[in-house]
Amino acid sequence: MPSWSPGRQEDFSMKEITQFIHRIPVDPLTGAVSVPIYQTSTFVQEAPGVNKGYDYARSNNPTRAVLEDLIAGLEKGSLGLAFASGLAAIDAVVKLLESGDEIIAVDDIYGGAFRLFEQVYKKFGVKIRYVDASDPEQVYSALSSRTRLIWIETPSNPTLKIADISCLSSIAKAHGCLLCVDNTFASPALQKPIELGADIVVHSATKYLGGHSDLIAGLVVTANRELGEKIKFYQNATGAILGPFDSWLVIRGLETLHLRMRQHCQTAQQIAEFLQEHPAVDHVFYPGLISHPNHAVARRQSRGFGGIVSFTLKEDTVAAAKSIVTSTRLFKLAESLGGIKSLISHSAEMTHKTIPAERRRAAGVNDSLIRLSAGLEEAEDLIEDLCNTLDGIIVKKNKHSQKLETC
Ligand SMILES: *Cc1c(COP(=O)(O)O)cnc(C)c1O
Repeated sequence: MPSWSPGRQEDFSMKEITQFIHRIPVDPLTGAVSVPIYQTSTFVQEAPGVNKGYDYARSNNPTRAVLEDLIAGLEKGSLGLAFASGLAAIDAVVKLLESGDEIIAVDDIYGGAFRLFEQVYKKFGVKIRYVDASDPEQVYSALSSRTRLIWIETPSNPTLKIADISCLSSIAKAHGCLLCVDNTFASPALQKPIELGADIVVHSATKYLGGHSDLIAGLVVTANRELGEKIKFYQNATGAILGPFDSWLVIRGLETLHLRMRQHCQTAQQIAEFLQEHPAVDHVFYPGLISHPNHAVARRQSRGFGGIVSFTLKEDTVAAAKSIVTSTRLFKLAESLGGIKSLISHSAEMTHKTIPAERRRAAGVNDSLIRLSAGLEEAEDLIEDLCNTLDGIIVKKNKHSQKLETC
């Protein structure tokens, strides 16, 4: 029985969507219904320091300001900040730390965040411990007197582990450290970590928020304004801001976020259920499957299970995975996720290449692990594409079987 029931769509509250759409301001100067792109570096002042709220576009830009306000609203936070990339957003948060401070991070963390922690922040004396954050005990036992930040991704990448945000937020609060949630895979349409007690949310807006695979952007939202102002200081001091045109593209993406996420979730659920039954597949990772170890937590803290599905093959080799990812027709082989076109990737050789093989395997990212990003094509067509490809490897392996018809 499918664990996604259409009734869950009611959870995509119309009220929220309506409020969001009407939070997008109409231009006060001209009445334009689309947010103007303020492509300017500086702003004329009436007298030194007397201006209309803007002086130099690194510090503030009106187009970026709209995006920052919209994401703060969607995430139910106090302050939003837009950056040149997801990694720049992560970097600005880590700058809150000092030498000697410690981070507890999820073990199957995004490869780029791992590289930032290990190859940039380690040399400045920040220590990072990696744990399976789907087990709060592990997070708790890793705490030390120097722990300043707990860093989680939920669902995580690419094994779609679910961390219990409320539980981890209680642990963080009791210990006096911050909880930051990378909410890229869920998006605020499905999950609002700040409502569950997180202090900071970060996004790679490159993915679902932009939604069309046409930009690189990052966002930070903080639960309280004071913390937000500290990160805003780093945004301006180090300068990795999002430009006005890309800010406009993210705003445009946000306008259809709820609709897109609803479709991504439905399609991913169908794909996961199909893969689970296929003889070439060993394990399917998708929080919407009842067999997922944290299905109950996912159901409690999010409105949907997302558009990403990962799986491993019975033949757990790099070669087998490679033959799959290079054979699909509709799923395009590419890094990234969250766009309208379905994408397929091989984690060991692509997104997780910067993580040493032992650590990668220990975090459950096997050699054959394939990650799918369900796009907005018809689910039926996507499943047929996967079916043809997976049947192909079974036929190739077992030369005697004439024709395999799982499609
Ligand atoms: C892509 C991604 C990032 C990095 O974002 P960029 O926009 O590529 O810099 C961070 N976290 C997660 C979970 C991602 O998927």
